[in-house]
Amino acid sequence: MFFTIRKLEARINELEEYRYINRKPINGIVAKQDGMEIPFTIGSYWQGRDAYLTLTTDFDVPNYGVDSQVVLLFDLGTTGSGFNSGFESMLKINGNLYQGVDSNHKEVFLDKEMYGTQIKLELVLWSGLEGGGQPREMRHFFNYADYAVLSPDTDDLYYTSKNMLEAVKVIDENSEEYNVILSALDAAFMLIEYTTNEVEFYASIKKANDKLQALLNAMHKKTDVTITAVGHTHIDVAWLWRLRHTREKVARSFSTVLSLMRHYPEYIFQQAQPQLYDYIKQDHPELYGQIKKKIDEGVWEVDGAMWVEADCNIPSGESLIRQILYGAKFIKDEFGKDVHYLWLPDVFGYSWALPQILKKCGISAFATTKISWNQYNRMPHDTFIWRGIDGSEILAHFITTPYPGRKGSWGANYNDEMLAETIKGAYTNYRDKQINSDILVPYGYGDGGGGVTRDMLENRRRLHKIPGMPNIKTGNVRDYFKRLIKRVENAENYVHTWDGELYLEYHRGTYTSQAFVKKANRRLEESLREVEILNIAGFLFNRKPYPTEDIRKAYEILLRNQFHDIIPGSSITEVYEDAREEYAEAFAIIQKLEKQAIDNIIIKNNNSYSIFNSANFTRKNEIVFVKTDEVGCFADKDGRNMVAEKVDGGYLVEIPEIKPLNFISFAFIKTVSFAETKSAFNVFENGIETPFYKIKWNDGGQIISLYDKENRREVVKSGGFVNYLSLYEDKPLRFDAWDIDIFHYQKKKTLNANSIYIEKADSLSAEIVFEYNFGTSKIIQKMVCYAENRRIDFVTYVNWNERNQLLKSCFDVNIRETQAIYDIQCGNVARNTHWNTSWDYAKFETVAHRWVDFSQRDYGVALLNNCKYGHSVLNQTMTISLLKGAVYPDISADIGEHEFTYSILPHAGDFVGANVPQAAHSLNQPLKVLSGQINNCSLFKSICGDESVVIDAIKQAESGEGIIIRLRENTGSNKAISLQPAFNFITWQETDLLERVIGESNHEKIIEINLTPYEIKTLLIK
Ligand SMILES: [Zn+2]
Repeated sequence: MFFTIRKLEARINELEEYRYINRKPINGIVAKQDGMEIPFTIGSYWQGRDAYLTLTTDFDVPNYGVDSQVVLLFDLGTTGSGFNSGFESMLKINGNLYQGVDSNHKEVFLDKEMYGTQIKLELVLWSGLEGGGQPREMRHFFNYADYAVLSPDTDDLYYTSKNMLEAVKVIDENSEEYNVILSALDAAFMLIEYTTNEVEFYASIKKANDKLQALLNAMHKKTDVTITAVGHTHIDVAWLWRLRHTREKVARSFSTVLSLMRHYPEYIFQQAQPQLYDYIKQDHPELYGQIKKKIDEGVWEVDGAMWVEADCNIPSGESLIRQILYGAKFIKDEFGKDVHYLWLPDVFGYSWALPQILKKCGISAFATTKISWNQYNRMPHDTFIWRGIDGSEILAHFITTPYPGRKGSWGANYNDEMLAETIKGAYTNYRDKQINSDILVPYGYGDGGGGVTRDMLENRRRLHKIPGMPNIKTGNVRDYFKRLIKRVENAENYVHTWDGELYLEYHRGTYTSQAFVKKANRRLEESLREVEILNIAGFLFNRKPYPTEDIRKAYEILLRNQFHDIIPGSSITEVYEDAREEYAEAFAIIQKLEKQAIDNIIIKNNNSYSIFNSANFTRKNEIVFVKTDEVGCFADKDGRNMVAEKVDGGYLVEIPEIKPLNFISFAFIKTVSFAETKSAFNVFENGIETPFYKIKWNDGGQIISLYDKENRREVVKSGGFVNYLSLYEDKPLRFDAWDIDIFHYQKKKTLNANSIYIEKADSLSAEIVFEYNFGTSKIIQKMVCYAENRRIDFVTYVNWNERNQLLKSCFDVNIRETQAIYDIQCGNVARNTHWNTSWDYAKFETVAHRWVDFSQRDYGVALLNNCKYGHSVLNQTMTISLLKGAVYPDISADIGEHEFTYSILPHAGDFVGANVPQAAHSLNQPLKVLSGQINNCSLFKSICGDESVVIDAIKQAESGEGIIIRLRENTGSNKAISLQPAFNFITWQETDLLERVIGESNHEKIIEINLTPYEIKTLLIK
């Protein structure tokens, strides 16, 4: 009846302004844009896209005594809703970085030693970008640039009353606390005298504040719930801004942290991502020094493990390992700290490989919020044991802070604003209250940085005291996890275990968007593996120095671009312009290193060629291209003729066999003419017979029959097709580049070929060309069948101009099974092929790396690819997503030319018996042809055991001493393998993934290893 809450709300809002006494404009500000002076008038505006404006003035700081606080107040642009794609600025004082100023940080507290002196103020304003979509200029108004002195009583009353009132709004109306708090507020505000006499007014404020504080202190607060509040700012290394903007964002955000820490000693800040610290180290050494000091003092936490907060769908297992290896190394070398947990609040799904990788990096806990964004199902627990593919277990914890104003939604926020509503909500939403009452809340504006504000720090102090609210302590994530792990270990109640991947039921378009980065990432991962092996060979056999620095540089490019908005394809146009340049730089390094390594071991000779097999399995009957203008034939080292076919610019030559991690050389013998060969294929109308298959297609180019002669069975499902290219309408509800929604299935068109012709059919291979024209796009696809290889390749060129269309290739196969197997990091995962439950249909599009296999007990079909990730198997149809056409945030995403290959491999047995992973490896890393002869450069005399054991890396140890070999089991079996290196060594022993020795030192010359299902082992050989 007295509108108490609304009345108080109005009074408290008024107080905000009364906190600033003697407020006056800062005079004499000079504004310069691109070196040109522009007028600086309050009320006027400035504009630009990605533009900078500098404001400078000399300012005489008033001196009201050491107990006072002089404040600068700025409103010079609009930052945007927490994302910080818009305006931000950096305030420098006397040439030193002082604090970031943006819409969320309008206040600057001046240090007391400046009182009574003249200081040089310089504000570097950035206009920001439009936040994706059509580029446009940003307009920012000069609303004020003032100074004032803070009234401490008003400030205290403002924050105390504001937080008490906000608490009232979320506390049960019938509770004792509700009425006690509301009565106290009302009683205090009755004491304020709204008089024109300023002295009397502020005297009454003091009275009101004293009363409120006394009443609050007298209140009885009892709760066992604690919030561990960790200051944080989520900084996307690139997203709606480019890498170079991020460098500036980090400087602004970190300066703000330091500035606030001078006034709030309890403030503890956490930031992961060594990449960001490395930027500061390069750009602002002084700031870096100050950060180091705070890290030493224990109020600035650097941890979180990875080099950047990387996407965990696309990067390979070895990439995920290097993210942590290089991240942890930087943190150790620069700050002397170990890493304790993986911090990935905003990443779109978490590989089943992670628990093992983390455990073997000495990391015992993992934190995220993102799984709470699931479209269909809420995960059953927030604190649980996550069991990895190999059985390794770590602690997983989901942050549960709700978004303000979104009651009832389970979506959690990693950019909390520290409000009564969100703090209380973090506990309410948490589902494991029986085992834990200490809730982790990272707070601070983020995505584009910004971070914690003075409001948040003041709110925390107040909310901590208010009855009905949890206790809120500042803390760091490392100690939080230490406590949580102990609590879980000692829990008497059930602690849930999740045995499987943490699939995000959202953002399924990120497996496909921006095809270019996916391809560049895959190629760079493969090239880095190969170049490390080649350089180890160069080092071992010719004692040439291992190019540590260059490899590290190329790896940093790979890791940086695996950031969770770059590689998923969810960034603006300019980010991909930068990515192209970065990848080009990395490939240039690789090329240089490859040449260096090969020059070290090859004997140049015009009449011989060598082949390098970087795979750890024997390869048979693979075809290589030898470039030469001469006419002739090829002979192996025993003088036997090799099968070859003359093609444009050289020859296709079949390599009958090459051992793992080995080189072979063969001779080229000039002749007068090239000998006739006999075709291995029979061509008939709309069809071809190969040594393995009889293939028929219809006039539209869809394959209607693929008969496996060897296994005497039809591969195509009755009435179905294989390799039919289809366009799906792809207009997701939100997040265009990120998402494919389930309803895309409802609207699709199958493409029909305009032209089909046989390009060649000789002794090695046959090529049938299918051409498709549709919209303003074009596809030229070559189906390549081999005489000695069961794989059928679809070598595809696309000129892609479609928007909001998803291009897939579909395969209706004659297989009956309820699960398909998908290649993931460090192993493979089975996913259901039906939509029985919401958990099944949520996975209507999932990620796979180099292959997907769909097999019943006796027979199966594998789909391989050399740069694609989006896949599905539903009922009897396998699909591979090829191209997407998103219009936000990059309006021109994926427009242009694309080249990729995917393959079908029908086979007897399952993926293990059919060597599907090996076939996918061969597709991805064709044998390398070198010009010249290589002698005795095998890395191993023998690799015995199972060739399905994968060697992911052979590299120099990070310490510079010894060679690292990383192996892993890839089929879900126990395996024994023995390696006999062809180089001299004294000892070998096992290490963890951070290359710290864990096993005993061994001296045997044959290295015998036992592996359990999906186990990763790292060996250090010296
Ligand atoms: Zn993010």
